[in-house]
Amino acid sequence: MSKKYDAIVVGARCAGSPTAMLLARQGYRVLMVDRATFPSDTVSTHIVHPNGVRALSRWSLLDRLTATGCPPIHTYSFDFGPFTLAGSPGTPEAPLAYCPRRTILDKLLVDAAAESGVEVREGFSVERVVIEDGRVVGIEGRSKQGGSIVDRAEVVVGADGRRSVVAEAVRPGQYDDKPPLLAGYYTYWSGLPMGGRFEQYVRERRGFAAVATHEDQTLVIAGWPYAEFAENKKDIEGNYLATIELAPDFADRLRGARQEARFAGAAVPNYFRKPYGPGWALVGDAGYNKDFITAQGIMDAFRDAELCATALSETFSGTRSFEDAMSDYHRARDATVKAMYEFTCQLATLEPPPPETQQLLAAIHGNKEAMDGFARLNAGTISPAEFFGQENVRAIMAAAA
Ligand SMILES: Cc1cc2nc3c(=O)[nH]c(=O)nc-3n(C[C@H](O)[C@H](O)[C@H](O)COP(=O)(O)OP(=O)(O)OC[C@H]3O[C@@H](n4cnc5c(N)ncnc54)[C@H](O)[C@@H]3O)c2cc1C
Repeated sequence: MSKKYDAIVVGARCAGSPTAMLLARQGYRVLMVDRATFPSDTVSTHIVHPNGVRALSRWSLLDRLTATGCPPIHTYSFDFGPFTLAGSPGTPEAPLAYCPRRTILDKLLVDAAAESGVEVREGFSVERVVIEDGRVVGIEGRSKQGGSIVDRAEVVVGADGRRSVVAEAVRPGQYDDKPPLLAGYYTYWSGLPMGGRFEQYVRERRGFAAVATHEDQTLVIAGWPYAEFAENKKDIEGNYLATIELAPDFADRLRGARQEARFAGAAVPNYFRKPYGPGWALVGDAGYNKDFITAQGIMDAFRDAELCATALSETFSGTRSFEDAMSDYHRARDATVKAMYEFTCQLATLEPPPPETQQLLAAIHGNKEAMDGFARLNAGTISPAEFFGQENVRAIMAAAA
């Protein structure tokens, strides 16, 4: 006999574990399943911008992360060739970013969920979402050795990434889609100290970035337009190193470093999906995805977890109807990320910015406040609407004049 849960969360990484944890902390009965067993890596770099770090702090998990020896990042720099803009990505309350290995971050999140009372089932694949009379009522799946099991819940939350089995079953409305725009490959290097800087290099139809992570290693990711994905796949290392040679000083630094892992890479589609319906909800990449060039996914997954857990809790407690609470989650998610989504998709084309943006970038150079603003824009600490707002742009141009 299987018991009935308030919520079943499918997927246990950045979106799933916090959603499950926050619900369990409010006393709800939660089952969380994942086909992976943790610690487990995934194809993703792992910058957590200051607002994501802030979420970890709200959940009392930041001390655990810093105890793992993950180096803090206080500066984001953007080298455009002729000049570099460098600034602070955060705020006085949350000044730092981190770049924790997913083996460490995701395990920490899964453990926190389990400690909060979530029943965690690792190594368990969901094969089918159970739908009765048009409403999701549970999941059917199996662990490697076991037979098929059905579990039932008031709500099944798909936190199962871009190829979400939950989304596939409920076929949510999808909107604002854009195809993959960028292909990125990364690996890890030892002997490449970063001194607390997340360095990004922007060149014509190319870009790369470097940031320190656990075990004194530095992650370096390089990218090119998706149109070159198939061709460049034939020589990933050659194209990666040629991209880095576009910034000779950095290439010199890399020559003194040692490659510690094989290349991993991806190109991802961009989309929004309606994140709720009868008996189901979506969080993280299952509900909306955008290119990794602005590294927003983990922070966004954390935000979804808080918004969705709040809405579900209001529903479970009878304070609000499911439709009412979840439509607020939907609206809040889209309102928060829409401008960043467009900005990210534009950057991911690796096309040179229009002339007025180039003038603005040149005017930002050397203006500390404006460079901090630019770093915060890219970190998602402030929105593109705020940064590119008339008043801010006018102030930057006036200061440069
Ligand atoms: C190349 C690349 C670089 C990136 N760099 C960054 C970065 O620097 N910073 C950043 O914030 N974001 C980055 N991202 C985005 C980030 O990886 C995602 O936004 C984030 O992982 C989303 O988390 P999630 O929990 O929604 O989904 P996922 O991390 O995809 O987790 C989904 C989980 O669901 C499980 N699952 C799926 N299907 C089933 C099933 N049927 N049964 C059981 N379990 C299932 C999977 O095993 C997996 O563990 C990058 C992405 C890519 C591709």
